[in-house]
Amino acid sequence: MSENARQDALQRLATPIQFVKGVGPHLAPLLERLELRTASDLLFCFPRDYHDASRLLAIPELREDEPASVCGVVEEIDVQNTGTGKSLLGVLIRQDRWHLRALWFNQPYMRERFRRGGRVLLSGTPRFNGGRWEMVHPRVEPLEGDREPTGGSILALYPLTEGLKQSHLRRAIRAAVDGYAGLLEEVFPAAYLDAHGLLPIHAAVTEIHAPRDTSNLERARRRFIYQELLILQLALALRKQQRSVRSQTPPLPVNAKIDARIRRLFPFELTPAQQQALQEITADLARPTPMNRLLQGDVGSGKTVVAEYAMLLAVAHGFQAALMAPTEILARQHAATLQRDLRESRVRIRLLTGSLSAAQRRQTLEQIAAGDADLIVGTHALLQESIDLAKLALVVIDEQHKFGVNQRAALRRVGADPHYLVMTATPIPRTISMTLFGDLDVSLLREGPPGRAAVHTYLGLESERGRWWEFFRKKLREGRQGYVIAPHVESSEDESVTGVRQTFEALAQGELADFRLALLHGRLGADEKEAVMGDFQRGKTQVLVATSIVEVGIDVPNATLMTIEDGERFGLAQLHQMRGRVSRGMHPGFVCVFAEGKTEQSRQRLEAFSKLNDGFELAETDFRLRGPGSLFSFQQHGLAPFRIADLVRDGDVLAEARHDAQTLVFGGLLAQPEFVRLRQMVNRRYGQALELADAG
Ligand code: ADP
Ligand code: MG
Repeated sequence: MSENARQDALQRLATPIQFVKGVGPHLAPLLERLELRTASDLLFCFPRDYHDASRLLAIPELREDEPASVCGVVEEIDVQNTGTGKSLLGVLIRQDRWHLRALWFNQPYMRERFRRGGRVLLSGTPRFNGGRWEMVHPRVEPLEGDREPTGGSILALYPLTEGLKQSHLRRAIRAAVDGYAGLLEEVFPAAYLDAHGLLPIHAAVTEIHAPRDTSNLERARRRFIYQELLILQLALALRKQQRSVRSQTPPLPVNAKIDARIRRLFPFELTPAQQQALQEITADLARPTPMNRLLQGDVGSGKTVVAEYAMLLAVAHGFQAALMAPTEILARQHAATLQRDLRESRVRIRLLTGSLSAAQRRQTLEQIAAGDADLIVGTHALLQESIDLAKLALVVIDEQHKFGVNQRAALRRVGADPHYLVMTATPIPRTISMTLFGDLDVSLLREGPPGRAAVHTYLGLESERGRWWEFFRKKLREGRQGYVIAPHVESSEDESVTGVRQTFEALAQGELADFRLALLHGRLGADEKEAVMGDFQRGKTQVLVATSIVEVGIDVPNATLMTIEDGERFGLAQLHQMRGRVSRGMHPGFVCVFAEGKTEQSRQRLEAFSKLNDGFELAETDFRLRGPGSLFSFQQHGLAPFRIADLVRDGDVLAEARHDAQTLVFGGLLAQPEFVRLRQMVNRRYGQALELADAG
């Protein structure tokens, strides 16, 4: 295409929507509510679903129990009330001289979908009943103003808005496909399309809106899913490449002497998994470009030691390292661990959290600025202040997923351009770590330190409460400690939600009256929290009644018991993290979850929790049950949501796209002139969000 022809095509694709045939001034404002403003927007308004009329049959061709679609005219509509709150809607459809009755139980609102004399398409499973064909709860598709579907056609279903009908959108999109699809420019070179089995753009747009058959539909969808995932993977790979070219970081090589000096500090041998992770990390740190690595490991798998090693490596080279935790308790705990391990050394540790007094903070900041601090441990406060970290070489971020990509970027502005180690105890589903964290390298700690006893998890029935508390008391008498967790601080008025305060009162008067209990929740002041934790850590209190505040990091090996109330109110990842609190020592842990299985999904979630002990398996299960949106929000990470790809469903295409993107970027192919359009597309979509240098 000549440059002139190209400009002309682009201009025509940008035709305002009201000038597209079949739209007009009446429909245009409705379409704009769906962010459809140009002819091109219509082409890329992908169907949210399809109505498969490829088994469109005449009524005499129906077979009992074989799903089919039937097209006909509405002849009768009647609603009967069949008891309190119950109803039966019957709709009689005529097709030539045959009839079929569609039935809905207790869905009186379905009546609105029908108009006597209107044409409809019904899809469902037919049955022959009392001398007539019936379908119970079929899918309905009004066919007003639409051309009649022919056998073999698959009808696209679009997202709608108030006042906009499928038929309107279908008409507008059909006009756009007829008038404008031919102007679309292919972003992939022809050889690339061939090699990857991708449908060319014109065919793909045509087939995705009006598929000839299911196999063409699949090929069209795959092209767009692949394209969408590839564009993101290219952006991530470019970001990674540019960062490594752009920034300089002090290399921190290990030698035998430093290695021995650091290892001597740990009271145990590192596990093979820790060794492996350290090897990957030290290889990164030895380079003059910043490390960007995600360290994933289940609760208690020993990530902290790995981070500590890396931080001490920075200090050994005369630099500073910072460790950031999501909560004050965790930051203090990290500081305490470091203090303990380093008590014989000259390494200076400074704690910087939100609860320091103004004077303390000023002093700490001065010490840091003066280079009078080697390890700085802190919470978000580290991000919010302008801290002078002149010699910062490494930043460790604990429990990453609570810090978004944005916050990672903010921190990057703090120091020069340090190495990054991001740690998470929330196992991230594979497809998510390839996208939201796709610019990071990943190290895994799959198996924890040896000698850990297993945790037994039970789903408790209400009728078994008495027996569970009996067991709980027996273990306490044997010297163990325990947690009782509830989701909220206060009970709700109708008592459907259990508050820890009320739980605490009830247990102190009842089941656990003979034991020393303490209450811990987020509304306590920092000093109070610390006092409560301290008493529990020293064994002064036996049972901690707490909110999910114990989810992160609290480390009391003697605590082996956990009761969880209202378990359905916690996410799977959260439950698993909480369970991690009772797997810190040599004695087996016991967890009992009480829950009201309100929905099928929450029942499945708890079922999985009691059966699976591996955090990674649980994460994948949770992801499948809840879908991607609920768990990791793209918007929260400053990225636009996908238009067609789905990380639960499209894991295979994602792996392929990621592999191809890396080949294109790191193999230097993307820089070739034939990929110029693809590069431009990457920049348009992600240039800003991912701070890409213009690669167009
Ligand atoms: P994570 O941060 O991954 O949850 P931690 O680093 O806090 O786990 O380690 C959990 C516990 O295991 C800590 O008490 C730690 O001292 C101990 N630990 C870590 N690595 C080892 C090891 N290699 N051998 C024995 N104990 C270890
Ligand atoms: Mg930890």
